[in-house]
Amino acid sequence: MKKQEEHYRAVSWWLTWEDLEWPDEDLVDKIKRRADKAAEAGVNCAIIFGTHFRWDYLPFWSRLHDLLARIREELHKRDILLFDHHSAVLTHRPRNAQDAWAIWKRNRHHVPFYPSRDVAATWTFNGQHLNDWRMLDVETGEPCFLPFYVAEEFCINNPHFQKAYQSYVKRLVEETNIDGLMCDDGIFYPGWRACGCRWCRERFQREYGHILPPTNDHSFWGNRDSEAFKDWIEMRFHSSRDFLGLVKEVLPSDFPLMACCSTSEASNLPSVGMTYQDFIQNTNMIMLEMCGCTPELDGTWDGRISSQLLHLGIARDNSCPCFGLGYGFFPEPAFFIWALNKFLGSETWFSTLKGRLGVPNSMLRELADDPELVKEGFLWEKKHPHLFEGKPDAQTAVFFSRSTRDYYGQIHEDYVRDYQITCSELMQGKIDFEVTTDVPSPKDWAVLVMSSVICLSEDERNRLEEYLHSGGAVIATGPLGLRDERARLLEKKWLEKYGLKIFVDEPQRTPGFPPYKDIKPEIARCKGIFNGRTVQDGEWISIQLGRGRLFWCPSRIGTNAQSLGLADIVRQNEPKKAYRVVKGPEGWYLRTFHAGVRILLHGLPAKVEVEPHPTFRKDYITTTEQIVYKLHYKELSSSVLALEFTRMPRLITVYSPDLEEPRPVELAGVTVEVDLSGIRRYFVVEIISS
Ligand SMILES: [Zn+2]
Repeated sequence: MKKQEEHYRAVSWWLTWEDLEWPDEDLVDKIKRRADKAAEAGVNCAIIFGTHFRWDYLPFWSRLHDLLARIREELHKRDILLFDHHSAVLTHRPRNAQDAWAIWKRNRHHVPFYPSRDVAATWTFNGQHLNDWRMLDVETGEPCFLPFYVAEEFCINNPHFQKAYQSYVKRLVEETNIDGLMCDDGIFYPGWRACGCRWCRERFQREYGHILPPTNDHSFWGNRDSEAFKDWIEMRFHSSRDFLGLVKEVLPSDFPLMACCSTSEASNLPSVGMTYQDFIQNTNMIMLEMCGCTPELDGTWDGRISSQLLHLGIARDNSCPCFGLGYGFFPEPAFFIWALNKFLGSETWFSTLKGRLGVPNSMLRELADDPELVKEGFLWEKKHPHLFEGKPDAQTAVFFSRSTRDYYGQIHEDYVRDYQITCSELMQGKIDFEVTTDVPSPKDWAVLVMSSVICLSEDERNRLEEYLHSGGAVIATGPLGLRDERARLLEKKWLEKYGLKIFVDEPQRTPGFPPYKDIKPEIARCKGIFNGRTVQDGEWISIQLGRGRLFWCPSRIGTNAQSLGLADIVRQNEPKKAYRVVKGPEGWYLRTFHAGVRILLHGLPAKVEVEPHPTFRKDYITTTEQIVYKLHYKELSSSVLALEFTRMPRLITVYSPDLEEPRPVELAGVTVEVDLSGIRRYFVVEIISS
């Protein structure tokens, strides 16, 4: 079985209609064959995909669980774990033939075993009609409908549904003996339209003392100054967090549990109530779904770095594994997804998503099963586990301000864009960095970057001053600390005592329902006066505070990144390390980890050439998208990486799946030249100091 120190090498275990014939002799053989293939590919964890909307399987549960139990048994014989993965709340409810075809086209991989609507209306569980659990539209009172999934959703605040799902989870674990669970979709999928059910309204009144106003009440909906509306936002996040708490409650202690989550940074998350910052309070594994193609069709992959590093930061703070789920259909992108996860320091979950290709099954059969696609990377990792240990060796952290996003931010440009561009700037400026959601100590990171962090609690402001006084460098742009953690304007400007007054001109915004709809991306303009003098756009000022220094510029990174030179200022303030990359391969990203006396330097191309598949495309509602078929790389030459050390290490070795054998590096002179010739896709340089 997977050893404690081993990383997860996970694949999806797809179920299809054929599997529903269970019990069946041929299926027993099929399970054994697939389990053999998974073992041969170095897989140590399989995650169920298919039979996804589990409530649609209500009449089939015992048969399905018996099938899962058999899969788990065969996988265990081969030292592979089995996690179940399903949607706890969604049900497919096509309203007409067109809807049914839409499910076939985009969501066939769910194995959509839905009942007719009239039959669904009669379904009960423990005397409760399932239809009574549905989320209701706050405006119309009608059940919410999700066009993309052709689905309805049960309300996570409905106590009858909560009890019913708890009893399902208990039964699932008892009947299948699964090793872990990924519980999906317990959020407000319909956004601001959900949820107007009795239970959500009652919770709002019970916990916050408010009656949910009608949607034409513009003093509430979308009003940044309404404390009641902020309570509504808070309740949405608490609802999804608490729902996972109910799941955890019925699982054995320390049972691996995670929830689907493609981002915790996006500006629209208050509308759906989703963030792993809350999920982690009731789960013990982190999930990072990388939607779309990896790499993207333009050959890059760093567009998601802000999101990936936020989830890795939450994982670090909670000592949890973080699964990077990447989708691909062919061996070359599968290898890339594995290498990217290793580069980032996450666990790998590789998955196909054939049901979204919108072509008949007869055409899908020519595509290989998931383990076969990702085999090369997994086997290489299994052979070299010592290369994937350690913690990031970054000296800089980017601060993610959840309160700015939740209570101040209304549109992407208000805050999240600045956070994202900050991460891209540092990445492209070759700065090794992590993301933090809390004010750290300078011992953790010597440099803290804060972009447009307008909301800071009193405690955060105090700890920032402590951080500065004890030697940290804060590099901030745009509005900083003008509002508290609920976006209420501070009466006294925080930085005034240090001679800096920051002002913000807020554009006029019109509240309404749905909130933030039709807001033009016109954002607050920031100005500053430092020691009686106006700070110009693009000008950096700096203030010595104790042993540390605050750098500030009124311009926002989101609109002025090119002229601000953020990466250079960060670099100048990072303390010297025992090693330095003097020269790095052009067009590659490097990331370092330290593990005891070892430094592990990972390298991955920043951009590759993508060859899309000639015929297959991914289907969305109104658009289709090409999928990645092959990747073309440029080979590195011998003299592209040079390292300098304050003390010469004992041993340096280059590892790469592109090399037949690890390559020792000759240690001579002050600067060590590392030969990377023959490497195209990925490498790890292991540096062992004595
Ligand atoms: Zn509700």
